Amino acid sequence: MPSDLVIVYHRQPYEEVEVDGKIEFRENKSPNGIVPTLKGFFGRVPKGAWVAWKLAEDPSNPDFKRVVEIEDSYGKYSVSRLPLTEQQVKSFYHVTSKEAFWPILHSFKEKYNYDPVDWPTFREVNWAFAEAAAAEASKGAVVWVHDYNLWLVPGYLRQLRPDVRISFFHHTPFPAADMFNVLPWRKEIVESLLSCDVVGFHIPRYAANFVGVADSLFEIEVPRREPVNPDFIVEGTALSERRVARSISYKGRKVEITASPVGVDVDYIESLAQKPETKDAAQQIRDELGDRKMILSVGRTDYTKGGADQLMSFERLLEENEHLHGKMRLMHVSVSANRNMTVYEEIQNEIEQVAGRINGRFGTFEWTPITLVSRAIPFDELVSYYCAADVAWITPLADGMNLVAKEFAACRIDGDGVLVLSEFAGAAIEMGSAILANPFSYRSMDRAILQALDMPEDERRGRMERMRETIKRYDIRAWAEDQMAGFAGAGGPLDDSD
Ligand code: UDP
Repeated sequence: MPSDLVIVYHRQPYEEVEVDGKIEFRENKSPNGIVPTLKGFFGRVPKGAWVAWKLAEDPSNPDFKRVVEIEDSYGKYSVSRLPLTEQQVKSFYHVTSKEAFWPILHSFKEKYNYDPVDWPTFREVNWAFAEAAAAEASKGAVVWVHDYNLWLVPGYLRQLRPDVRISFFHHTPFPAADMFNVLPWRKEIVESLLSCDVVGFHIPRYAANFVGVADSLFEIEVPRREPVNPDFIVEGTALSERRVARSISYKGRKVEITASPVGVDVDYIESLAQKPETKDAAQQIRDELGDRKMILSVGRTDYTKGGADQLMSFERLLEENEHLHGKMRLMHVSVSANRNMTVYEEIQNEIEQVAGRINGRFGTFEWTPITLVSRAIPFDELVSYYCAADVAWITPLADGMNLVAKEFAACRIDGDGVLVLSEFAGAAIEMGSAILANPFSYRSMDRAILQALDMPEDERRGRMERMRETIKRYDIRAWAEDQMAGFAGAGGPLDDSD
């Protein structure tokens, strides 16, 4: 049965586990994160489908199931699995997407690696995604494509299925033309995106950058900029962030441009924070700390997250403030992924080295300044750390959104806690009541953490209240409504598609 909503996202929407020699599909344990959020959309349509890749050395193997039917708490939906070889995955994902696109999207030109890119393989894989989506979509269906590793899918899909409505969402930043146009495939990528009905971004600045890039490469029409949704824009936000072109036209087709920062499920996170087990765990952490303050930093090990820069700011804090020795502990969670990529190994080694140096320089028998955690902490456990922390210190050098910052505020039903947030996280446009820091400036970074540690309780509570108001007003449901409205704007309500 064809689907009214086809989600094209590179990862499969479940965990595959082997039980007694048989493969079982298990629902992801936590309803937190982007995959469960996207699956939530299946409840809004009569029939949904998902397209992802699956490692398969021999795609012609008759045991390989290309389409599996899933029934879980999100309803019934089918998953179309593209069999990719290890070589294809390496080329399309680890090389082209992670070594060429990722650094440019995050404005790290010096990390950009052009040489190993195999463009024909990138095209081939994107074509296969487009074909699978075309096979699943009903007439006039919405096909919702996610992220830069599938940039060419909209263009191919438009050729295969001119009738479908195509929406594309970027989960990363989108840079300005002088950075983006470093990519030699820029015209092919942007022309593909211009065959969408909707191109979505987290924040207005990324949307404006995309319009600027398109304008630099093609003859497009750009109407006047209009005010963006005031629900997620905090007071004091730069004027350029408050207005954006809502659509552009290219070759007679209109492309809607949306800016909607993905939110978190505040109700769910609050319910976790309220659980007696969470409260007990948070209390244990606090008991362990005694009078010491706890600074919490959480992120993936990636050069964009600025982990080593943050540790060096902590080192300066200890160098310059002897009275703080023994008075706090930094829990630095830097989840190490992509172990097989040199660039991530280098950054992991650097983090371990700097943390080790700081502990060696300042630690005593009674006090270890930094607890470094490289494994992923399960979300319900992470919530107890969010609840126990005095300060969340989140200072990426570039970050599309940063959900950790929002999760921290969502957890703080006690109304206390300080957030130090990088200006270069997308979340900063919503969380202006955090202490905003510029991670490229020693002075700004050092001042921010000191201010956080010294902040009086009434100021902490006032700021936290304002942050919680914003993330509640524009939570995951508000984001989902915005996406649905975007699909509808692209040609009538979803369930009228037949
Ligand atoms: N996370 C987690 N355990 C960890 C570290 C992170 O569950 O030990 C989760 C965190 O709760 C958040 C996500 O990973 O939902 C990270 O999202 P974010 O937007 O902050 O960064 P990304 O990794 O997507 O760049």
